[in-house]
Amino acid sequence: MPKNKKVFVLGMARSGYEAAKLLSKDNQVLITDQKEQNEEHVKDLKNRNVEYVITTHPDVLLTKQFDLMVKNPGILPSHPCVQKAKKLNIPIINEVELAYHYLPKNIQIIGITGSNGKTTTTTLVYEFLKAANLPVHLGGNIGFPLSGLVERIKENDIILLEISDHQLVDMYDFKCDVAALLNLSETHLDLHGTYENYKKAKKRIFQNQTNHNIAILNADDLETIELTEDIEASKKYFSKTEKKDCYIENDQIKLGNFFLNLKDLRLKGMHNYENIMAALLIIDALDVDLNCSKEVLENFNGVEHRIEFVKNIQGIDFYNDSKSTNPVSTITALKTFQNPTILLLGGFERNQNFSQLNDYLENVKCIICYGETKNRIEEYAQTQNIKCIVTETLKEAVWQAYQMAEKGDTVLLSPASASWDQYDNFEIRGNEFKESVSKLEG
Ligand code: ADP
Repeated sequence: MPKNKKVFVLGMARSGYEAAKLLSKDNQVLITDQKEQNEEHVKDLKNRNVEYVITTHPDVLLTKQFDLMVKNPGILPSHPCVQKAKKLNIPIINEVELAYHYLPKNIQIIGITGSNGKTTTTTLVYEFLKAANLPVHLGGNIGFPLSGLVERIKENDIILLEISDHQLVDMYDFKCDVAALLNLSETHLDLHGTYENYKKAKKRIFQNQTNHNIAILNADDLETIELTEDIEASKKYFSKTEKKDCYIENDQIKLGNFFLNLKDLRLKGMHNYENIMAALLIIDALDVDLNCSKEVLENFNGVEHRIEFVKNIQGIDFYNDSKSTNPVSTITALKTFQNPTILLLGGFERNQNFSQLNDYLENVKCIICYGETKNRIEEYAQTQNIKCIVTETLKEAVWQAYQMAEKGDTVLLSPASASWDQYDNFEIRGNEFKESVSKLEG
């Protein structure tokens, strides 16, 4: 861990704050951000003798006297300050890598990454481990920044981290006891430039692993198989089609003698079965009794805003998939339902290509659209011969959906659009949907 060093923390938010706090005990720390930050946090850092500067030109403050930079994962490598650090040969790490050096020995670290399903899988593992009464800390992208957890972590604890590719690029010594790569698809090319670079970043979750450590992999994802061919870890596979370590057969998820009936699971959709298989393999790798998963899965409605079951009203199921901000996510949601579906679509205009949905509309009996993209969606629905109702707001859309839904239908909010035309974020949009649904019965 850094001692008596001069450290530059680039980007504050929650993780920069926690990193600066951790470093401040033994080091001289400067933290910068381009916007004003939480007042309490700023006060706290100042009390700890951390220098805090708001500037749009942090590079001016970076001199060769600095020994280390802790960079917020959201800041692109092309940022002038990152470029300058490279020129000055100042090592750049992120907050998770920093925290790793402060952890006690004899802990187990689980890291979960992938293009899709990270939050769901991480949440499942967390719930399973809690149900098994194990001392688990949830950190990384969800939960708390790892640097903020360090003081609470004791020997023999389990640390569970959702790790994005943004974080993996600046990790060097960090090592997972169990690492999972759920799947790969082309996203975040803004940060990595090319898909190849993105995949290389994902592969780093296995770096430093030896054959005593475990890698959990998706056997159906050929790119994952190819990418991980030469990793050292001992590999465990899940598959929806082949008999691997965990697999689906006769409507059951199977792992050794343990099985789960798909019909007993609240989480629906093949993508979620994959997430469940990954989560089971992870706890199995820790020798946890798999039965702890049963009760959790009987009650788990999904992570909020991700194909989340909201309510059944008079035989009509309402699902909230507000996290869907592009057509690809909506395709995943549509694949989940086999019954007649009323689809609520619309939001921020980004020239998204709704025709990507063409092959997945078989069960959609009506589209209700709202928001900035509503007129384009109406035109699109016409090309597909699907009934379409245009409304201004999501609230109206919910009401319209309820009017036309029949027993056995699903009403699905999966907007294929960001929320920013009418909301600050997808969480607020999803909450409004749930609130509108809860008012329907009265
Ligand atoms: P992430 O944290 O990787 O963004 P989430 O668990 O939050 O993933 O799920 C976000 C959306 O991604 C879900 O609503 C669903 O549409 C899709 N998704 C979830 N799991 C998978 C998976 N295993 N494969 C493909 N798509 C998935």
